[in-house]
Amino acid sequence: MFQKTSGIHIDGRKAMSKKLTMEEYFNPEYVYIHLIKNIGPLKATVAAGDEVKIGQVVAVREGFGEMNVSSSVSGTVTGIKKVWHSSGRMVEAIEIKNDFQNTMDPHIKPNKNIDSLTREEYIEKMKLAGLTGLGGAGFPTYIKYITHLPIDTVIINAVECEPYLTCDFSFILEYPEKLMKGLHHFIKAANAKRGVIVYKNYNKEIKESLQKYLHKYPNISLFEVEDVYPAGWEKYIIERVTGKTYTGLPSEVGVIVNNSSTAIVFADIVEHNIPLISRPITITGEGVKKPRNFFVPIGTKVSELVEKCEGYADGLLPTKANYIAGGPMTGRAILIDDLIVNDTLGAVIVKPFVEKLHPECLGCGKCADVCPAYLTPTEIKKAVESNDLNLIKALNANSCVQCGLCSYVCPSHVEITDAVVKAKDMLRKGAK
Ligand code: SF4
Ligand code: SF4
Repeated sequence: MFQKTSGIHIDGRKAMSKKLTMEEYFNPEYVYIHLIKNIGPLKATVAAGDEVKIGQVVAVREGFGEMNVSSSVSGTVTGIKKVWHSSGRMVEAIEIKNDFQNTMDPHIKPNKNIDSLTREEYIEKMKLAGLTGLGGAGFPTYIKYITHLPIDTVIINAVECEPYLTCDFSFILEYPEKLMKGLHHFIKAANAKRGVIVYKNYNKEIKESLQKYLHKYPNISLFEVEDVYPAGWEKYIIERVTGKTYTGLPSEVGVIVNNSSTAIVFADIVEHNIPLISRPITITGEGVKKPRNFFVPIGTKVSELVEKCEGYADGLLPTKANYIAGGPMTGRAILIDDLIVNDTLGAVIVKPFVEKLHPECLGCGKCADVCPAYLTPTEIKKAVESNDLNLIKALNANSCVQCGLCSYVCPSHVEITDAVVKAKDMLRKGAK
């Protein structure tokens, strides 16, 4: 059971990307639509030579997690190619050459029957739009909404608690009313009583931008949490807002949680039938000249966005940079900037390459002190090294939420999170 709610304050490094307004960049020459989602592979429904419009379905997910995936530009399909994915693998993607005509699929138009939408119709819209969680999980949103458990509260997670990341923050400031509308539709889709938007207390701008819309939505309120990590963890937020804890899914305590950017995109899905084709992303770190936030078509090359940040910091060669796909606490280190923007990629952090030594554990116990799941990461690491599956299980490694705090506080820079993640992998494989 989750009990530890204090978290720790960490250096946010957010100022570098927060200061500029979000830039819309809709002109990549090519986009690459990955033929994979977090739940599994997709099937392409177009082939080389096909002309496509913005919002036209180009791939489908069949079976569990069924959904459509749409083109983010208009143009010509030039083939299926292997490209990098934020999971650190090469995966197949549909390559589409942009014709820069921005021709929309005819189904993208204002929806006239918004007020009469049923719960089932909302869920169908999520499926057809290919809506997944933009906070990093990439899980199909509609699956949360087909629960048979009664839902009381829909929570919008606008905490964005990882260092460096500010694209959710910028997206809210660009589209505060869309966030309110998106949450309003989520509340109706869940047949819930209320909605709560949770943000960090130092982000006063979020409060100011949303407050003026509250009178239109009497069942929506704002909720501040402290500037600690991992304040954006679902269990932490739910405990703060409702006082309830759970072991499995938030629906057990009558709650659904969605990320703020997901809610903004959902407003466009419901009101204009625009599927998930674009997303906000932070390109930041000491390795780029002008870190900033972008709103871009899904499938855009990250290298193009680095160029839009005025390139790499002086003297830094792309081959001598470290890249993190996602936040520094939970993201994945990658070696190249050939990444492609997908639904789960909310940030790329570029840093000068630092060679790592082979650190020794000092036995200080700090990693266990901060663990929000009450684990002893060093014991789990030893169990991994001795391949002791029973001990890994007894040490409850599966409760790790991969927050990265244990590595962050380690004075010896031991990559202790990796060991715990490996333990979880071993349990999963051992369970098959
Ligand atoms: S990554 Fe896992 S083991 Fe490490 S502090 Fe977070 S929950 Fe605990
Ligand atoms: S924080 Fe680092 S040095 Fe301290 S016990 Fe954990 S792994 Fe060892």
